[in-house]
Amino acid sequence: MSNKYSKNFNFKEARLVKKTSIFKSCKNLVIGKGNSSAKILFVGEAPGKKEDELGIPFCGASGKNLDKLLENVGLSLEDIYVVNILKCRPPENRNPSMEEIKAHTPWLLKQIKEMKPKVVCSLGNYATKFFLSLGDLQLMKKQPGITEIHGKIKKIKIGDLKIKLLPLFHPAAIIYNRTKLTPLWEKDMKIVKKFVGSV
Ligand code: URA
Repeated sequence: MSNKYSKNFNFKEARLVKKTSIFKSCKNLVIGKGNSSAKILFVGEAPGKKEDELGIPFCGASGKNLDKLLENVGLSLEDIYVVNILKCRPPENRNPSMEEIKAHTPWLLKQIKEMKPKVVCSLGNYATKFFLSLGDLQLMKKQPGITEIHGKIKKIKIGDLKIKLLPLFHPAAIIYNRTKLTPLWEKDMKIVKKFVGSV
């Protein structure tokens, strides 16, 4: 049975997600994968088709690339936890709407509060702009793009939650520009590894 109907998801942040139309159209909620006690949290954008079918983030083409990228820098899913901005797949993988981001991110922030990672690595523009807007979603469009800001640690505060953010290129974007972006991703991950100490 789809995890959409699990009784475990009856807290207020989950109920907000359940009110969005993408909850009705999705097959599964996509919560997270990896090691939830890890020091590094990766935050992607939204589940795709495969993720929706299996209820697991990053299990399709971008997930395969993420596994490869992690291997290149000597890490595995034991060393990180991965979640998304949205818990449900937007139909046809369209961009998340403001309403969806607003309704889905309280659950994301709850996950961060519980996990207490040393660093949050936002993957790509959506996740990065969400964090940089500090919860004021009207400000998302005004934030710098990933090309400008990747690999730089930023201290941010959303409500009472303090986060050390390090934006990274999204594994899906790297598929389309491997030669240029793979070395940049690996260089940025050296900064992450150094920052968290031994993982
Ligand atoms: N892209 C994302 O941002 N998240 C996923 O889970 C899969 C692809």
